[in-house]
Amino acid sequence: MLIKIGGAGVCHSDIHILDSGPLSLPAFTLGHENAGWIAELGDGVSGWKEGDPVAVYGPWGCGGCHACQSSAENHCAHHASLPSFGGGLGSDGGMADYMIVPSPRLLVPLGDLDPVTAAPLSDAALTPYHAIKRALPYLTPDATAVVIGLGGLGHMAVQILSALCPAQVIACDIADDKLKNARGNGAAYAVNTRDSEAARAHIREIVGGRGVNVAFDFVGVQATIDLCTRIVGRGGLISMVGQGGGTIALPVTKPYGYSIDLPYWGSRTELMEVIALAQAGHIKAEVEAFPLASALDVYQRLREGRIHGRAVLIP
Ligand code: NAD
Ligand code: ZN
Ligand code: ZN
Repeated sequence: MLIKIGGAGVCHSDIHILDSGPLSLPAFTLGHENAGWIAELGDGVSGWKEGDPVAVYGPWGCGGCHACQSSAENHCAHHASLPSFGGGLGSDGGMADYMIVPSPRLLVPLGDLDPVTAAPLSDAALTPYHAIKRALPYLTPDATAVVIGLGGLGHMAVQILSALCPAQVIACDIADDKLKNARGNGAAYAVNTRDSEAARAHIREIVGGRGVNVAFDFVGVQATIDLCTRIVGRGGLISMVGQGGGTIALPVTKPYGYSIDLPYWGSRTELMEVIALAQAGHIKAEVEAFPLASALDVYQRLREGRIHGRAVLIP
């Protein structure tokens, strides 16, 4: 399938790729968060037509293993032996006029949503959606969820939590404008974590002796990981989404009964659910649009925390 790109989201994972080069693969075009219109059907493809607006599902699996058959290609059993993890992650991605998607199963119809602003749904929204769904049993009406890092993923996480569960949200970042925005998106509290000891004390004051039920970390540096382990309560959950290079030490000690989850992206059917949430108006990515030619400048802005919501490149 050939897709004409409407928008390609700029994810912080690209910065990790650029800095550490974990993919020992031939050069490829970045852009793993894409939406656009079908420009050409592949051989034998039916049920789609040129011009259909689509989101591209990002983690491309083998399509045949148990996980892929259940639509969870993010858990494909054959990832290690596949030539690529997906478009923009080994294969050419969406920071281009067009991209090739190997199978129509990797497309989800957008309906009335605008592909330019819908691109972030495929990662910035899908990844926290998947993490939050796994955490739903913890997110009871009397529970507290902490969201650390209110960038592309985190600003969607606050909206998704508000849409899916009654738990009280404590939003955390080091940038005051992002904290203010999170309050507007439904967070009950906003805590600046620049001084992590003061942040820990403030969060403890809010949640009391019970501690935090779920701590979602969308940064994953040592300071945020350490904050999570200090605020999580008995029987709670740390959901570690950020890949900032920190390490989770696992001392066999209190709090008793807590768990750590390491979610990765989401399934194809979860992307359908995310798109349904957006179509119903429950969530909306806050997008800063830039021309494709300014990509290098946009990555620099993302490094410096100077992007509001998600940056999307438009060819
Ligand atoms: P982003 O740059 O858009 O947002 C990061 C946010 O964290 C910013 O608002 C920034 O101000 C804030 N921040 C930075 N340092 C902080 C600190 N010490 N304490 C509190 N807040 C801090 O990034 P993004 O695109 O949302 O990605 C977030 C992380 O999630 C990245 O590490 C990325 O690689 C990872 N990621 C993981 C998955 C997955 O499947 N596990 C998928 C996509 C992205
Ligand atoms: Zn990403
Ligand atoms: Zn598979």
